[in-house]
Amino acid sequence: MQINILHAGYCTAPEHIAIHGGRWRSIHFPAMFALFRHPKFGAMLFDTGYSYRFFDETKKFPQRFYRWMTPVHLKEEDLVVNQLLTFDLRPADISFVFISHFHADHIASLPDLAWSRYVYLPHAFSGLRNLHPSEDMKHAFLRGLIPSDFDSRSQEVDITKPILLSEEYAPFKTGYDLLGDGSIIGVELPGHAHGQMGIFARDDAGKVFFFVADAAWLKRSIVENRPPHKIADMLFPDPAAYRETLGQLHSYHLTHPDTNVIPSHCEETIRFLETPKG
Ligand SMILES: [Zn+2]
Repeated sequence: MQINILHAGYCTAPEHIAIHGGRWRSIHFPAMFALFRHPKFGAMLFDTGYSYRFFDETKKFPQRFYRWMTPVHLKEEDLVVNQLLTFDLRPADISFVFISHFHADHIASLPDLAWSRYVYLPHAFSGLRNLHPSEDMKHAFLRGLIPSDFDSRSQEVDITKPILLSEEYAPFKTGYDLLGDGSIIGVELPGHAHGQMGIFARDDAGKVFFFVADAAWLKRSIVENRPPHKIADMLFPDPAAYRETLGQLHSYHLTHPDTNVIPSHCEETIRFLETPKG
């Protein structure tokens, strides 16, 4: 399998919120997505980054607060559909989109990927589905980003059938074999959002990638086991679980220094691993 790390737009936010003890200045948070090209299942994505729909869906209040909290920068060439073209791929070529969680910066291009199956943990979406729209902002959820045929394209992970992970994944003990061939292993990373899913994948060169979504905003958080500012707890459904997950990522990092552990918004990590454009 070939793996490419890409990003579609970025937002800015204060570093000292993202990491305890961070600087009092605004930094870039790229909206990462990954392209997998699998010999049997073809092209697949992990998350989608931003799209112009983010702006459409945050024109009105209270959604406009979302835009103010995280000012978004996005150019035409950043769009997932345009970046796919540089790989000679069209949206119709994308067989699966693995969705880490349903925050806007991870799903804004789902409506462009209307030929794909959407794979996610059921509890990542079941709570959002039944929210009263007035509660959407509390969950950073923009329901207009969900395609109208979402249900018929969804392939929820069967959480009744976890697999026991080998020692190689410790301290993560159970996961989900998302394609049935062991090439993409999903693991739940609780705390940041309900049903947040990270992914392990290995490329043709044998390099292991661990996409941890927003379980940490910065790689430094994992390396130093350093959580965000306390105020960020207000954004998390389960701050205690967030810290527990961060501790697990920290111990995984210590014992697997060769794995590319990738927080979706860590600019340093994304820059280092990203496939050059064009
Ligand atoms: Zn998030």
